[in-house]
Amino acid sequence: MAEAATQLRPELVPQRTVIPVTNPATMQKIADVPVTDADGVEAAVSHARAAQHEWMRWSFKERGAALKRYRDVVIDNKERVAAVISSETGRPRADVYPSELLQLCDAIGYWAKVAPKYLADETVRPHLLKNKKVYISYHPMGVIGIIGPWNFPFLLTIGEAIPALLAGNAVVIKPSEVTPLSAMLGAELAEQAGLPHGLLQVVPGYGETGGHLVDCADMICFTGSVATGRKVAERAAKRLIPVTLELGGKDAMVVLRDADLERAANGCVWGGLFNAGQVCMSVERVYVEEPIYDAFVSKVTEKVKQLRQGLPDQTVEVGSMTFPPQLQKVEQHVAEAVQKGAKLLAGGRRNPTLPGLFYEPTVLTDVTHDMAIMSEETFGPVIPIMKVRDAEEALRLTNDSRYGLTGSVWTKDRAKGQMLSRRIEAGSVCVNDCLVNFAVTEAPMGGVKESGLGARHGAQGIRKFCRHQTVVIDRFGSKSEINWYPTSKRKAALFRRVMNFYRSGWRNKLRG
Ligand code: NDP
Repeated sequence: MAEAATQLRPELVPQRTVIPVTNPATMQKIADVPVTDADGVEAAVSHARAAQHEWMRWSFKERGAALKRYRDVVIDNKERVAAVISSETGRPRADVYPSELLQLCDAIGYWAKVAPKYLADETVRPHLLKNKKVYISYHPMGVIGIIGPWNFPFLLTIGEAIPALLAGNAVVIKPSEVTPLSAMLGAELAEQAGLPHGLLQVVPGYGETGGHLVDCADMICFTGSVATGRKVAERAAKRLIPVTLELGGKDAMVVLRDADLERAANGCVWGGLFNAGQVCMSVERVYVEEPIYDAFVSKVTEKVKQLRQGLPDQTVEVGSMTFPPQLQKVEQHVAEAVQKGAKLLAGGRRNPTLPGLFYEPTVLTDVTHDMAIMSEETFGPVIPIMKVRDAEEALRLTNDSRYGLTGSVWTKDRAKGQMLSRRIEAGSVCVNDCLVNFAVTEAPMGGVKESGLGARHGAQGIRKFCRHQTVVIDRFGSKSEINWYPTSKRKAALFRRVMNFYRSGWRNKLRG
């Protein structure tokens, strides 16, 4: 009865005011974080707006220098930041330094260097209106709302903020309820580094807090699941504010018969299991050509069996998973696959020797596309491998997906690899590599199909945080233009004659 009442009257659902944060490797509670309510989000955005009015007047050089000071403070606090990230994700500390901290430090230098180039006024030479001077200028949007996931809680929140800030915006971050502490520490360090008060803020909370942020910010930059991405886009559409969506993936690895087997097997193991497979660009399914299938499978299985799994401060390759429902999803996908005939060659269960959300690195064969493990995002430490007749079949299966984030082709024939890449329906493709796209900050990275809208990195990775303004200036100052008033039969006849010049082949006719 009470349940029925709350379904009809959502306001009767008791509001959660605190987020209990748990270390997923030990299952110990590590913090209680207060939830930001709608008023709190509104106050944060208006505070950010005030800071932004000042910040947008700073030159690129001044903004870059301020963010480099921030980078130095992050470096001074690297152990603390890494410890916080590990404590709320369960990831090995050794993973956190390169994939979260180093990437952020590199991104600050990169964006500080290229922002003046990417956001400089751009001259346009009109092909028609030769009497006009035209340029495009880029202006900050105002307050950017960043809604982030739990798998890279520092890089995908604070890291996302860097180009937005360099473009002259303020940023308000809604981190995942699962991992709010990393972004909160990032904002605390920003204050310590002397960034203008309120310029970079964090509003911890559940999904509702993210919804409130969509109601107040000037643009939303979302990274997360397809289902939530849709909700965010719908809510943003009501206000007609821009949104970028970096969503899930089911990234395929295609291994051709002439591949370097050792490199391909090493890439497969790392690409499938890095961060316990909780990477949007993880190798989520593998297609291997028949002649090398057995050799590839046995190499991968052997390597997977050698991996060490353990607590973040131990020297291990694979840590715990981060989010309990995600672990359940992995268990469901594997159980369903096995029930439908898949063969388990390694793993396939929770690690019984460890306390937290540890799922053993898993290899599955005899998988088919009617299993969720080959069609839905698993987001866990599982490598499903499928035998294919040839490259054509691999391509067909690769593209048989609603996702299109990244993919990879493995072959010694680079030209063939490139040719096949073009036919893969994904925003980024690697040849003889995987997951590395994210580190190429110069090139856009974003998904096609249900993997998202828009991209991070490259020129569009910073221009997306700007309003574009086109300015057209008359060059010669004549008293009037031919298309201005008054109208006349003579002018109309002239335009009619001019239209003939658009007819195909008119140049040949003149010559003839
Ligand atoms: P979710 O979609 O569950 O959550 C993402 C963020 O949205 C969280 O902060 C969440 O808050 C918030 N949120 C939830 N409901 C709403 C709402 N109604 N309005 C506004 N915000 C809301 O994703 P996960 O955190 O589970 O992240 C994993 C997913 O992220 C995977 O699918 C993965 O593929 C994708 N991902 C994509 C990347 C890419 O670059 N394409 C990179 C990394 C991950 P709360 O946590 O409190 O629910």
